[in-house]
Amino acid sequence: MKAIRKMEPTKGLWMEEVPVPQPGVNEVLIKISKSAICGTDLHIYKWDAWAQKTIKTPMTIGHEYVGTVVGIGDEVTKIHLGERVTVEGHIACGFCRNCRRGRRHICDHTVGIGVNRDGGFAEYVCVPAENVLYIDERIPDEIVSIMDPLGNATHTALSFPLIGEDVLVTGAGGPIGCMAIAVCRFVGARNVVGSETVPYRRELARKMGATLVIDPMKDDIASAMRQVGMVAGFDIGLEVSGSPVAFDSMIKSMYNGGKISLLGILPDTTQIEWDKVIFKGLTLKGIYGREMYETWYKMEKMLLSGLDISPVITHRFHYTEFQKAFDIMEEGNCGKIILDWGNE
Ligand code: NAD
Ligand code: ZN
Repeated sequence: MKAIRKMEPTKGLWMEEVPVPQPGVNEVLIKISKSAICGTDLHIYKWDAWAQKTIKTPMTIGHEYVGTVVGIGDEVTKIHLGERVTVEGHIACGFCRNCRRGRRHICDHTVGIGVNRDGGFAEYVCVPAENVLYIDERIPDEIVSIMDPLGNATHTALSFPLIGEDVLVTGAGGPIGCMAIAVCRFVGARNVVGSETVPYRRELARKMGATLVIDPMKDDIASAMRQVGMVAGFDIGLEVSGSPVAFDSMIKSMYNGGKISLLGILPDTTQIEWDKVIFKGLTLKGIYGREMYETWYKMEKMLLSGLDISPVITHRFHYTEFQKAFDIMEEGNCGKIILDWGNE
């Protein structure tokens, strides 16, 4: 089969011919129809510091995809041949304290598909049956292929009650910011104000339903608040940029008692005004992946009841054109990019 692989510890990805994997005990073989490119894949492509310390070559990348079950290993009972499925990309150990208290998303021994073992940028992928999700057929393939990042956005947004609340999203135009905005609106937030440095992405965040999106290089959050008629500060902050400057501006703009979800990966050197966290009585919550599997349940039901995230998909390519797709990802004028494996 064809697979998009990291072959060398240097910038780039390579299309290789590799054997179709065979499902082991409790595993399932999936024929991929569509996969989506994540920021993580771009880190691996660029071979940045995180990729260098995390990725072992050679390895097939990709953890956002949809496909059809074409092989079933021994002991698999709940997944059936021919089912259209997607996959939770974090494999939890099932035995650590967190797994056993129902918090598998923060398992002590998480293994990432497409990060620590072969992933879904290939014609076929083998995964543990436990990670496979059957998604209602009324939700189109393309949308199912981005339910992993939608899950990050959903987990981030729904970590605190949102009804009637004013929400600040820093990094609003990234795929996760965009989808988080749609979720906030869908569940009844009041103002959803975004901050985003890239013009193309500011436009995308507006399309996803943001009340107002500012360019943090030109406008400050205080004037954005005045424009939408807010006086006190934000009730909820969703930090999805990974930028220390953005995080600091968020801390300054929160209302006393505000709550912040932190999904963007901030550098170790990040500095904020800690006294504001304390005297405002803020709550900070780190967000990792998706809750297994309640986030998936919530996403599926929201999508079936009218949540529309389709504008976030901005580009589509045949998988053989993956280089073009990564060039666009690198340049940043995009939302989600879908690779088509031609197996619908
Ligand atoms: P992305 O990099 O595409 O989006 C981040 C956005 O923030 C970009 O559009 C960028 O232009 C914008 N930005 C950068 N600096 C800014 C600033 N100072 N003010 C406002 N906006 C700014 O990434 P994504 O795929 O949307 O993911 C969002 C973040 O979440 C990334 O940091 C990613 O590494 C991280 N992530 C975390 C998890 C997790 O489980 N915790 C999972 C996936 C992604
Ligand atoms: Zn565990």
